[in-house]
Amino acid sequence: MPSDQAGKPPALRITEIFHSLQGEAKTVGLPTVFVRLTGCPLRCVYCDTEYAFSGGQSLTLDEVMARVAAFAPRYVTVTGGEPLAQKNCLPLLTRLCDADYGVSLETSGALDIADVDPRVSRVMDLKTPDSGESGRNRHANIELLRDTDQLKFVLGSRADYDWACRQLADHGLAQRCEVLFSPVHGKLSATELADWIVQDNLPVRFQIQLHKYLWNDEAGR
Ligand code: SF4
Repeated sequence: MPSDQAGKPPALRITEIFHSLQGEAKTVGLPTVFVRLTGCPLRCVYCDTEYAFSGGQSLTLDEVMARVAAFAPRYVTVTGGEPLAQKNCLPLLTRLCDADYGVSLETSGALDIADVDPRVSRVMDLKTPDSGESGRNRHANIELLRDTDQLKFVLGSRADYDWACRQLADHGLAQRCEVLFSPVHGKLSATELADWIVQDNLPVRFQIQLHKYLWNDEAGR
């Protein structure tokens, strides 16, 4: 197995690895193993995974692969935090694809997605003004999105919705990949957002985070 500098096997700092139902995006409702990497350079105001900002456990890629395999999953989602903040996220994604899992990556949109294995379905945020982190959007990523990817807007207000509609139109986003609109849980009414999307006949998929309704979880489980 290849080694990092100093002869150490490649490793990742991991907050948790668990089996649950996918709560959002294209594979919503399907049993999925989640690998949550520790650390994130952003601080979105609505963040529900602050517990993943620090701590965690250092695991080699072999150890991560073994823990994932123990669940015998069909789908694996690599999430965070911001998983791409750790360079060994990229080889982990490739190994998960090589093992024939259906692999997705949840990423903030602030870091370069160019080198992600093309077999991975990338679920990328475009951070809205209400997140407090829209200045971190890496706009060059938009050009890299393919039809197997998804672009997610988490909306906190009508102003956020209007901003997202402008992004859709200005960048032809719905022609590039599937676009997801979600409300910030507890801030924007899901019904109100659904009504706006229908009224405007937007080419987007409305979604709510399933796990928050099933288990009242603040983060994915
Ligand atoms: S990018 Fe995700 S993990 Fe990081 S602060 Fe924002 S919501 Fe939290």
